[in-house]
Amino acid sequence: MAISPTLYYDVLGLPPPPHSIALAPEVIRKAYHAALLRHHPDKNISDDAVLTLYSSEMVDCIVKAYNILSSPDLRAEYDKVIMQKRKLLNDESEYTSRIIAQADLVDLDDFDSAEMCLKHRIPENESICETCEREEVWYKECRCGDVYLITESMLVEVSSHFKGEDGEVLVQCPRCSTWLRVLFAIS
Ligand SMILES: [Zn+2]
Ligand SMILES: [Zn+2]
Repeated sequence: MAISPTLYYDVLGLPPPPHSIALAPEVIRKAYHAALLRHHPDKNISDDAVLTLYSSEMVDCIVKAYNILSSPDLRAEYDKVIMQKRKLLNDESEYTSRIIAQADLVDLDDFDSAEMCLKHRIPENESICETCEREEVWYKECRCGDVYLITESMLVEVSSHFKGEDGEVLVQCPRCSTWLRVLFAIS
């Protein structure tokens, strides 16, 4: 699981930057004490060793969060990193939207399917591929002569992001780098 870029604000239950009003030292201290009370191992009277471990790790994290957020210098540094990460994420989603806007939309039904070796990318059973491992793939020829390739595992991975009956996957031609949006039914 990815660690939240705003982890130290999250564990103290404080709003992450940008702040319209600067967080007062008392506010941070109060949040720190409240978080400690919520997660202190002594409060978790349980035979469950896992829970205790989780709590003591949590307490370490809360203490570290307080040390950073209560120091103006360290907090400024930390806020700067958060803002940079946010900008990176924004740039990334802008890039994806640009690709989506430009890509042609096709249906997976327009693809041919085959057992293909992913190393040689040859749908036919040619002698060079005789000993290669094969995987179920869908392929469609690109204008440049190479093929767009969709593997079973790509579809499985993408399916988990869609709740409805239709999924969509972005594929890129390895030779000319053109993108294609491919719609597929989730069974
Ligand atoms: Zn091969
Ligand atoms: Zn191409």
